[in-house]
Amino acid sequence: MRPLIAGNWKMHGTLREAATLAEGVRAGADGLKAELLVCPPFPYIHGVAAAMLGQPVAVGGQDCHLVVKGAHTGDVAAPMLRDCGATYVILGHSERRADHDETDAVVKAKAVTAIAHDLIPIVCVGETLAQREAGEAEAVVRAQIAGSLPDGFAAAGGVVAYEPVWAIGTGKTPTEADIAAIHAALRAAVGPATRLLYGGSVKPGNAAAILGLPNVDGALVGGASLVPDDFLAIARAA
Ligand code: 13P
Repeated sequence: MRPLIAGNWKMHGTLREAATLAEGVRAGADGLKAELLVCPPFPYIHGVAAAMLGQPVAVGGQDCHLVVKGAHTGDVAAPMLRDCGATYVILGHSERRADHDETDAVVKAKAVTAIAHDLIPIVCVGETLAQREAGEAEAVVRAQIAGSLPDGFAAAGGVVAYEPVWAIGTGKTPTEADIAAIHAALRAAVGPATRLLYGGSVKPGNAAAILGLPNVDGALVGGASLVPDDFLAIARAA
């Protein structure tokens, strides 16, 4: 299946920097085997999507609400993202699970809404360091998958990202054997059609090794996605 290299820009950058970053990614996007996706902060999605019109770079949101409209100050609805040109949405990132108390049930409800509004959900799972050290990593991600993926997820092209919490922004990654073991468990849980991304300190220097592992169908990239040359180098390694 075609690899997906997704950049999660998180809460970084100015409007001008987002435009420059988008242009840098666009300039190197032609002819890649991997599908490219960038996920800017909400206020920049419309402009980045406009810049990517007709280009081989998809645009996504970093979250959406589980209902489609109403009195939810500060939240953003799935149809709004679609209206602004997004075709993907990241759901259940560990930073949202931690900062906004998002449970598996909430993530699942958001995925239902995203799919209903023509957005492809990228559902994130991953264990904490304490859970890894207690030997619970596989059980944790299995439970998150069971609780977070709605019926019809695979048919809608849904994507799963395995992001160990302790590997995010730390420069640490699991061993290749540990990544392969979790991805094998995920594959068994989600079936053959669902793309499985690895995320957590993916850099140009480790991308080829990680992306070459069985059942790793792409990467969800944080810090390195803010540097076009690094992001594109990761994409070329896929
Ligand atoms: P880093 O690549 O900065 O570790 O972030 C990973 C991540 O959280 C992507 O969603």
